[in-house]
Amino acid sequence: MGGTFDPVHHGHLVAASEAASEFDLDEVVFVPTGTQPFKATRKVAPAEHRYLMTVIATASNPDFTVSRVDIDRPGITFTVDTLGDLTRQRPDEDLFFITGADALNQILTWKSSSELFELAHFIGVTRPGHVLDVAHLPGERVSLLEVPAMAISSTACRERVETGRPVWYLVPDGVVQYINKHQLYRQPLGGAE
Ligand code: ATP
Ligand code: MG
Repeated sequence: MGGTFDPVHHGHLVAASEAASEFDLDEVVFVPTGTQPFKATRKVAPAEHRYLMTVIATASNPDFTVSRVDIDRPGITFTVDTLGDLTRQRPDEDLFFITGADALNQILTWKSSSELFELAHFIGVTRPGHVLDVAHLPGERVSLLEVPAMAISSTACRERVETGRPVWYLVPDGVVQYINKHQLYRQPLGGAE
């Protein structure tokens, strides 16, 4: 599951858990992005903070792990490179890429989009307010999954912290404490996504 995870929240965790259950996955690997092509206009928290919050959020689940492939690779993160690295690390495993409806809709604009479908099966999770039209994607390599209504986004969490409102119960307790400890998201946010 790729994401900016700025910060990771319960929507991500529910989506991962639901995908693991529905598709009988052995493990969900959370992959925090490095620099993202579509988010270059917004100031994103340093990768090490996003990585550590994801580790904290997933620590209690034996089937959830976190990978550094994207944050350790210099330059902009492209999903084709993420899947290439994971395939090299796990040559015998079937990869599924869990992604949100918004991202899946953009997939044909991603670098090497035709190669992507050879590297993984794509699971598009839908959340309230996002309509998913996948008619243009190869049906046998893309599945859709509705996750329980979780109208949580990282953007909303950042805005809440910036304006002094609580994020308790939207993100795991340890992530609330990490945000406070490191004073993340206190500055006015950069341009919207
Ligand atoms: P932002 O508000 O900054 O865009 P986000 O909440 O969308 O952040 P990302 O890190 O961009 O978080 O999300 C990673 C993936 O998880 C994306 O593909 C996104 O669509 C999906 N996702 C995010 N929030 C939810 C949610 N509440 N339910 C299901 N999927 C989600
Ligand atoms: Mg998003």
